[in-house]
Amino acid sequence: MRRSLAVTGIGTLMSGDLASPTIAADTVFIEDGKIAGIGAQSDFDADRWLDAAGATVLPGLIDNHIHPVLGDYTPRQSQADYLAGFVHGGVTSAVSAGEVHTPGRPKDRAGTKALAILAHKAFADHRPLGLRVYGGALLLEEGLTPEDFVELADAGVHLVGEIGISGVKDPETAATMTRWAHDVGMSVMVHVGGKSVPTSRAIDGEYCVQVQPDIAAHVNGGPTAPTIDDVKLILDQSSSAVELVYNGNQRAASDIAALLAETNQLDRLVLGTDSPAGAGIAPAGIMRLLATMCSLAKISPASAIATATGNTARVRGIPGGFIRIGENADLVIADAPDGGQASDMASALEFGDTPAVAAVVIGGEIKVTRSRNTAPPRRTPVFPKLIE
Ligand SMILES: [Zn+2]
Repeated sequence: MRRSLAVTGIGTLMSGDLASPTIAADTVFIEDGKIAGIGAQSDFDADRWLDAAGATVLPGLIDNHIHPVLGDYTPRQSQADYLAGFVHGGVTSAVSAGEVHTPGRPKDRAGTKALAILAHKAFADHRPLGLRVYGGALLLEEGLTPEDFVELADAGVHLVGEIGISGVKDPETAATMTRWAHDVGMSVMVHVGGKSVPTSRAIDGEYCVQVQPDIAAHVNGGPTAPTIDDVKLILDQSSSAVELVYNGNQRAASDIAALLAETNQLDRLVLGTDSPAGAGIAPAGIMRLLATMCSLAKISPASAIATATGNTARVRGIPGGFIRIGENADLVIADAPDGGQASDMASALEFGDTPAVAAVVIGGEIKVTRSRNTAPPRRTPVFPKLIE
């Protein structure tokens, strides 16, 4: 039997698509975990109804930059249950930038391959509170061969972790291995900015242009920002997407978001938290970064949401990120926090407030009915009886 859910009473529906960031509809109909209809409540007949009570519905946020290890535990901050906490911040998918915090991480050819395959396969089957974790980002080490990339791709590994934080540092080797990765369809990130920890190196725009990755990671600093000229060089001399992270420099994030908007290049922007980092683990970090972009750089909220959803899905080649027929039914009901200045989610972002996450649906299943990590919403959704 098909299992359906209709999310009704939507005040504002954000699509995740920068080209057309809002949709004029009040209901999203979900069947068997996928979006099966978008329209008016009277168009659909569902098993279960979730009334958004006039709040905003958006695609589940995608955190483009996490450093998981295995399971829902990170030894870097001795913290458990942090990935489930992200779901309470409106994040429904998270992409590994490398399992670099693995205690005793092997740095030889066999070991770095084994770690990527293990993390990829383990997270494919481990979903903290439903979170889709894309784990297993290969950390480049000397001695890897083109055949290794073929073997890894066959095992499902489709990510290369941040270049610059593992053994391969010199730009020629990094560029060569990036080509091997691209030949088998992997997406590649380069760490940009100052040294993140004593063992990493500073990487500038020129390095990034030489390597030509899919994504220039944290161009607002991870945690130390490069210069705005480095960012302009990357934008002008590569086709790389650029990433802003919560655990970076917030002033640089605002300046770079404004630059991208002015030059009509917001389609090249993706967002992450870079968790865990020295600044910690921020379950609502993507929401905070969106507030920075909307309040300081004056990016329109629906466009900002698209950079944290559809852009990332497109650049990474992963599902989700859009409210559209056939897509995974990963969505967030969000609103103005109760008691603040804002009237809805968009105006909360414009004021610089963290929106209230009122509900999270992943694969058509209701995972959060009251966020443990944000303020309560102005409008409280009406949930179906959860025990059926
Ligand atoms: Zn980094």
